[in-house]
Amino acid sequence: MPHHRSHRAHAAVLGSGIAGLAAAGALAPLCERITVFERDDPPAECGPRKGVPQGRHGHILLMDGENALAETFPGLVAELEARGSCRVNFGSELRWFHHGVWKVPYDSRLIVHMQSRPFLEAILRERLAGLGNVKFRYRTAAHELDVEGGRATAVRVREAEGPEETAAADLIVDATGRGSSLVRLLAAHGYPAPREERLALDIQYSSRLYRPRPGSQQPWKALLVAQTPPAKRRLGLVFPVEDGRWIVSLGGYLGEHPPANEEGFLDFARSLEQPDLLAALRDAEPLSEIQALRFPTARWTRFERLSRFPAGLLPVGDTVCSFDPVFGQGMSVAARGARLLAAHVDRDPRAGDPKPYLRALARVVAVPWLLTSSEDLRYAGVEGRRPFWLPWLQRYTHRVFRLTGASAPDYDRLLRVLHLLARPPLLFHPATLARAVGRTAR
Ligand SMILES: Cc1cc2nc3c(=O)[nH]c(=O)nc-3n(C[C@H](O)[C@H](O)[C@H](O)COP(=O)(O)OP(=O)(O)OC[C@H]3O[C@@H](n4cnc5c(N)ncnc54)[C@H](O)[C@@H]3O)c2cc1C
Repeated sequence: MPHHRSHRAHAAVLGSGIAGLAAAGALAPLCERITVFERDDPPAECGPRKGVPQGRHGHILLMDGENALAETFPGLVAELEARGSCRVNFGSELRWFHHGVWKVPYDSRLIVHMQSRPFLEAILRERLAGLGNVKFRYRTAAHELDVEGGRATAVRVREAEGPEETAAADLIVDATGRGSSLVRLLAAHGYPAPREERLALDIQYSSRLYRPRPGSQQPWKALLVAQTPPAKRRLGLVFPVEDGRWIVSLGGYLGEHPPANEEGFLDFARSLEQPDLLAALRDAEPLSEIQALRFPTARWTRFERLSRFPAGLLPVGDTVCSFDPVFGQGMSVAARGARLLAAHVDRDPRAGDPKPYLRALARVVAVPWLLTSSEDLRYAGVEGRRPFWLPWLQRYTHRVFRLTGASAPDYDRLLRVLHLLARPPLLFHPATLARAVGRTAR
């Protein structure tokens, strides 16, 4: 993408989660000034904050997400490593139990970086602060949009308990996340309500930081004991994060919620399908309270299907689609969305028609949405739209998942799809297809 500021546009970015930070970074070379409005207090060094309660839970950044962030923030990966992120070879160093089998270990050459979510945010914020044309305004919540003649012209904000201000902007990026008011604000200006895809998952996460005891030796760097739908609804993970710690998250679907007290947390860990996570906890010292978070519904708002949409208004991240968190896609799709948004602004500097951007974003969202919804809908109790071909797809992917316990080439294809590096048809590669179907025939 060309790096120039010829457009002299002023952008207002609402929200400083990963989507807001990535959007500000991607727009910085294209805009004269960017103001990021954030409802939260200025964050402490790199601790969790109120507006991002999910920041206390395990957050994996998929390869495509890392690539998208590194395109926006050159040198990011080296910086993550230098400051203490953990390099994990996804194929050989992440031990993963899935659909009743342990994945076959192999050198995947997919090196992911694991760190806490606040640590990643802090590094992106520092990068933006160093750019010169990005300004942060904390304790400043956006609560209204001005739309004139089909264009979003300003955002109304209020700092702490102060008076309302009208912040005029050429571009307004809504990155306020799951709680975004965009649908309500559009309705207030006479726009139709967008359709919504919903999956009622009723998930809870409970998480805690640990430090492995000196001398503790695990045959993995990261561990994931995943749910096996439809029978089993519980999962647990151990991800290494900066400062030699682990973040341990337990999760359960459809009301099977991990408690946030010591005894309940350990009992839940004991109830997982494999004993490895509990064994690892015996070798580690807790460093924090246990924090719980409910996640009732995954939701995709189809803004791209609206016949009319205000010029200059660009939603990104969870505002558009809040995925089932278990599959770790949200930050990656947010980062990819920010790249798309900037590419659109490069072509159409005042976003006179955001529809091509919204349609391109929907095409990006569609793949991870299909991957997770087809898994979630294995649970009969999950309400959601079930296309007629779904049972067929589910039977096939279940076979592929089982194959990945023994066949490295098939596992490699699956990883490339899950990390959003390749499209799902790769799972129908002739060799995989032959093995998946042949196995059943036998
Ligand atoms: C339990 C859990 C686990 C997850 N695990 C993963 C994972 O492993 N990998 C992954 O990629 N994703 C994961 N996700 C999803 C991920 O957190 C989000 O998809 C990602 O952070 C992108 O979100 P966002 O930036 O759009 O919104 P958020 O991160 O929610 O940020 C929104 C920001 O907007 C601010 N804000 C809100 N309203 C206003 C307002 N009116 N005015 C100004 N500011 C406002 C908030 O304070 C916040 O800073 C998980 C989510 C949950 C719930």
